[in-house]
This record gives sequence, C-alpha cells and structure tokens, in this order.
Amino acid sequence: MDTAISGTLAAPPLVDPYGRHVAYLRVSVTDRCDFRCVYCMSEHMTFLPKADVLSLEELDSLCTAFVRRGVRKLRITGGEPLVRRDIMWLFNRLGRHLDGGGLDELTLTTNASQLDRHAAGLFAAGVRRVNVSLDTLDPDKFARITRWGRLEQVLRGIDSAVSAGLAVKINAVALRGVNDDEIHDLVSWCGGRGFDLTFIEVMPLGELGDGNSGEMRLDQYWPLSMVRAELRKRWTLEDSDHATGGPARYMRVAETGGRIGFITPMTHNFCEACNRVRLTCTGTLYMCLGQEDAADLRGPLRSGSERLLMEAIDEAIGRKPEGHDFVIDRRRAQPAVSRHMSVTGG
Ligand code: SAM
Ligand code: SF4
Repeated sequence: MDTAISGTLAAPPLVDPYGRHVAYLRVSVTDRCDFRCVYCMSEHMTFLPKADVLSLEELDSLCTAFVRRGVRKLRITGGEPLVRRDIMWLFNRLGRHLDGGGLDELTLTTNASQLDRHAAGLFAAGVRRVNVSLDTLDPDKFARITRWGRLEQVLRGIDSAVSAGLAVKINAVALRGVNDDEIHDLVSWCGGRGFDLTFIEVMPLGELGDGNSGEMRLDQYWPLSMVRAELRKRWTLEDSDHATGGPARYMRVAETGGRIGFITPMTHNFCEACNRVRLTCTGTLYMCLGQEDAADLRGPLRSGSERLLMEAIDEAIGRKPEGHDFVIDRRRAQPAVSRHMSVTGG
C-alpha cells in the first residue's frame, strides 16, 4: 500500500509541554496472545476485528514517522508480538533504521513461546536484547498463571535467544501468594545465567471478566518495597546507577553480580523522566500508560497525507500529561484504567 511517509516534510524532534524529549516508542503489534495470564487477560477474551488492526506496512509507516521525529528506541510488544503472522517482515523493515543510524535500539517484550523459531531471525534483523516475561520456574505454577502456557517451551525459547546472541532480561510480576516463595530462586537462576531480572508490581489494568478481578489483584498485590525487604534476607543488594531511561530502579546483587530492577507504578511515581509513548495495533497513541487520553493516528495515516499525520503526532505529544496516579480502589476494587495491558503492551 501507499504510505503516508514520503519523508519530504521537516521533522523536528518531539518535545512535550514539560520539556521531555519523546525518544522511546512502544508498539503493540497485536492484541492477541497464545497465553491467558491471569493478571492480564480473561480466559475468554474478545479480540479486535482484523479490519481495525493496522497492516504491518502501516505499522512500519507509523514507526518510521516517529523515527524521523527523533525516536531512538523502539520496543515491539503486544499481546504476544511473535504470534502475529509475518512479524519478522516488520522486524526486518525496522532494522533498516538501525543501519541508517536513525535508531539506537530495536527490542521486544515476549512470552518467549515462539522465540525458539524466531531468535536467529531477530538477531539478523538487528535486535540485540529481548525482555522475556517469566513469573515462575515451576511448571505447574506456570501453567496456572498463564492458563495456556508450557514452561518447557518458554525455557527452550530463552535458550535459543542466548544461542542466537541476544541478551535476555527477565520480567517477573510479583504476586503475593503465587510466586512470593520463589523470588530467591529467580534471583539465583537469573544470576547464574547472566540475565538481568526486573520485578513488576501488578497494576490495575483491564477487567479480567471474572467479576472480581480487582479483588484478585488486590489480594495478589505485593509492594516491591516488601519484595526488596525479602530479598535482603538472602542477598546483598547494592545501589546501582544503571539506568535504561525506563521506570525501573536497579540494584546489584553482590553474590551473583547480576542486576535486579524494580518497577513500582503503584507506590512510586516514575513520571518525571518519562520519555515514552505507546502505540496500539489500531494506531491509537497513548501518551501515558496510566491515563485514558489517546490520539487516533490511523485516520491521518490512512488519509495518505504526511502533513496530517505529522500534525496529529504533534497535537498528541502536546497533550502528554505530566504524570499518572494509579490507585487500586479498595472500596470498589475496580481497575484504574479499563484497557488491558495487552492493548497498550505494558
Ligand atoms: N506477551 C508479552 C509478554 O508477556 O511479555 C508482551 C506483552 S505483556 C502485556 C507485557 C508485560 O506486561 C508482561 O511482562 C506482563 O507480565 C505485564 N503485565 C500484564 N498485565 C499486567 C498487570 N496487570 N500488571 C503488571 N504487569 C502486567
Ligand atoms: Fe499474553 Fe503477555 Fe498478557 Fe501473558 S502478559 S496474557 S503472555 S500478553
């Protein structure tokens, strides 16, 4: 198809009203997934009609527009990005921006179920790091958390990533009563394999369709301050000035030499330095993970006018809020933001 990006217009960098330079775009390429993690999706999800979803060519055009406007880092996510058909075409296309110097990094967040067959191709496209979501090393617990996943397949995917030369970072959602007995094992395992590990607090996003999803997450909500206190019983955690430009705060584990990151959206506002925006697979741009405000870029993109698209992007960045205020509402136990993580991609 014809794309709206001829590259003829001037492309000044994107700076929001608070002076933050938007240099990081996360792109959810599908809302579909081969897992049904209990904190992320209901078992019977209704997915978007295919017609609403941008083609891979359209996603390439939008990403390219952002790269022209100064985005230096692209993270591909979902849903599960690697279940989207022909997704390697998009990685290969986007890889040209690495070659051309427009982009510093192309990465993805994945459940690793399909990593075995894609790891080498991702490396060839220019990907050098992957974030793999893995909350437990216990096969039965893994099956309970993901509902449809098999741990063995994921571990094979991780091995393939390492063999292909990709650096692996593990993301684990800290869930009280679910994986709280395993965090030391996760630290040892990641330390032994040279993987950074990031713990994430469960966030109140999306109805999970079981009528009491908010309560469930309230039960499972385990503040990372408590995770850190538990970790200190076994490990020596040293301050680390490692920063990725993202919301994680890092510490170094003296015994393993590995790094542990903590993402605490519920207890700590990490908004001051936020340089990122999120694009969904329908071309909706969210300027903040914790707010409902969004801008449609699909219409301007499909108009075929580069000027209209650039104006829509400028207008959206002009509305990027200063920060968010996630709260789990203890009386109503409702999600603070109604869309699922699989829509905005985390
Ligand atoms: N399917 C891929 C994966 O699982 O890595 C990418 C998309 S997934 C939505 C991105 C991240 O969001 C995962 O690390 C997942 O654990 C996290 N996530 C999903 N729902 C969450 C929630 N309610 N609170 C905190 N993290 C969540
Ligand atoms: Fe799928 Fe990732 Fe959500 Fe799990 S967290 S259901 S793997 S999108």
